Amino acid sequence: MYRVVVIGGGWSGCAAALSARKAGADVVLLEKTDLLLGLGNVGGIMRNNGRFTAAEENVAMGAHELFEITDRCSRHVNIDFPGHQHASLYDVTKVEPCVRRLLREKGVDIRLMARAVDVVVRKRDMSDGKIAKESIIEKIVLAGGEEVEGDVFVETTGSTGPMGNCLTYGNGCCMCILRCPAFGPRVSISAKAGGSDIMGKRKDGSFGAFSGSGKLEKQSLSEELQHKLNETGVAVVPLPEKAIKREKLDMKVCKQYALNEYAENIILLDTGYAKIMTPFFDLDTLRQIPGFENARYADPYAGGKGNSIRYLSVAERDNGMKASGIENLFCGGEKSGLFVGHTEAISTGSLAGHNAVRYLKGMKPLELPVGIAVGDLITFANENLATEDGLMTRYTFAGAEYFNRMKDKGLYSVDRDEIAGRVKRYGLENIYGERMI
Ligand SMILES: Cc1cc2nc3c(=O)[nH]c(=O)nc-3n(C[C@H](O)[C@H](O)[C@H](O)COP(=O)(O)OP(=O)(O)OC[C@H]3O[C@@H](n4cnc5c(N)ncnc54)[C@H](O)[C@@H]3O)c2cc1C
Repeated sequence: MYRVVVIGGGWSGCAAALSARKAGADVVLLEKTDLLLGLGNVGGIMRNNGRFTAAEENVAMGAHELFEITDRCSRHVNIDFPGHQHASLYDVTKVEPCVRRLLREKGVDIRLMARAVDVVVRKRDMSDGKIAKESIIEKIVLAGGEEVEGDVFVETTGSTGPMGNCLTYGNGCCMCILRCPAFGPRVSISAKAGGSDIMGKRKDGSFGAFSGSGKLEKQSLSEELQHKLNETGVAVVPLPEKAIKREKLDMKVCKQYALNEYAENIILLDTGYAKIMTPFFDLDTLRQIPGFENARYADPYAGGKGNSIRYLSVAERDNGMKASGIENLFCGGEKSGLFVGHTEAISTGSLAGHNAVRYLKGMKPLELPVGIAVGDLITFANENLATEDGLMTRYTFAGAEYFNRMKDKGLYSVDRDEIAGRVKRYGLENIYGERMI
């Protein structure tokens, strides 16, 4: 049977593995740490603003399983917080084992603590005696030397780390969930195979961006704050004037939260931990705010000093998620664009996994139409990467430029039937559920 090798087990890698498996391929998923979901272990916000529409489009196209898990693991549903409506917050302590069980039940061969460090490539000989321009990956080399063969590969290694990037473009390794010191650095497979990676920029022209939130231990907060979080999912705590740092809004990845409310208040969300919606916050200053006298960071451990640096490794790709210059490499998630979010990772990963199997069958890759939000985001993000402004933009259904575009184009909806009807009109109903092999 044909083998699909997925490198990187974040939300996009899990979605790609599931999608390829459902299409009938043998799938191995390589993940460098001891946990699936990558940054999905520290997030939790789903279905806010345009993410609701995108989630329902995926469900209608047959990629329903991961959304069923995040819905089932939600501590709060249909809540509002500044700039955001109808959000759900999944419990970050519950979701990973559910995804791991699902993938195993579906027959995905999950290889944890399997870090890809290199590739073996070849060039195809053409019938006219020339050599094809694109390389073909034959094997992935793991740290330790083992080689993993495949017929087609999906890279979903994200864009966070390695430590050198957090040092050069941030405030050093802040010990985030990816735990590079223990499990080793991220490696760009597209670059190893001869492709060139694109680096996102900040407004001031510097490279990368800080992750925009952290987790506090909920028990380290006052009883009152804990109660508010448990009951409503949200707490908005005004900051004294001297603690307001508006410049932090430009630093962060998550432009959907770069609103004044997020500079003037501490906004907490209940994801099992207390998710603090700012890239980092000096602990001593934080402890001067009523309710935070004993506050402790759970993630990143050094959240008082900095956060992880992202967006330094985007593969050039087409709208079918195939990486440029490599015949049999597809990509998804942050690897495939300056995307922010779990929903965005699942959307792009599902398409990448599906198209990997189409490649095996010699079929034309599926490109999603711009008449649905997922297709439009994938196309729009790609077109914009060619511009300087586009490198400073982050692409998410949840806010900022792209959510405005969704509304302008009439793509935003919270009506499940309407969304399913749209998907059906394009002939995409349950497309990810169809077996091809
Ligand atoms: C602190 C924080 C909070 C966030 N909160 C939210 C939120 O509430 N809601 C939301 O929608 N989004 C949130 N996001 C953004 C969201 O988590 C990401 O955009 C999305 O999950 C990225 O998924 P991914 O699969 O592309 O990449 P990642 O999650 O980065 O996954 C990449 C995976 O590849 C593995 N890997 C890397 N290199 C190798 C290698 N060489 N070999 C094997 N494995 C490798 C990594 O260990 C990792 O597991 C948050 C991000 C952060 C950092």
